[in-house]
Amino acid sequence: MNDLIQDGLLARYPEILGSLADGIQCDDGWLDLLDALFDEITRQCMSVGIPLPRARKVKEKTGSLRCYLSSKDDFIVGLVQMAEEISGRTCEVCGEAGVMDVQDNVVQVRCLLHGGRSGADRNRMTTIWRFDPNRPASLVRRVPGTTEEGAELWVLDLLNEVADDYCVKRATGFRANAVRGGDGLRFDAANADQRLQGMMAMTSAFWKRRSP
Ligand SMILES: [Zn+2]
Repeated sequence: MNDLIQDGLLARYPEILGSLADGIQCDDGWLDLLDALFDEITRQCMSVGIPLPRARKVKEKTGSLRCYLSSKDDFIVGLVQMAEEISGRTCEVCGEAGVMDVQDNVVQVRCLLHGGRSGADRNRMTTIWRFDPNRPASLVRRVPGTTEEGAELWVLDLLNEVADDYCVKRATGFRANAVRGGDGLRFDAANADQRLQGMMAMTSAFWKRRSP
């Protein structure tokens, strides 16, 4: 990561990032994502009165973000998990929507402009990368694919996929009935535990930074 960009993050989140020995080991395109993640972690810690965690590692690994923290509650686990999933669809170079791909035995997320390939092969690879393809598909749509204003957003489809995977494993009856767009996304959701609330908060915070 560019030194100036990294210094900016260190200045904003000194307690979380101050003891990071190896620096932030990913490219600049994930800046918005990291900023949203650390901002949400800070909010959560202030809101429930727990100390800020220290990041032990923040890096790219097999194409997506990894963020290892000294401590976390369930909400923060949801934040981190969703940030990792979003990174898997976000070009590491520029931050535009990208697809996870393998080239020369290296897994990376790239948009078309930065060397990503297009086509069905690549899309198939991405969809099965993080989830077990043999997992029975749930018939329940957990998160609507469009906002109430009618915007179709890829982050909503991703959140649906991640939340459904979690709900099937935990037998949790979570459902977001509606999503309002605008200044961040707001979810009208029933039965959301702390982990799911963290996932929704991360989706909303990321999208707020990505929206024009
Ligand atoms: Zn790009």
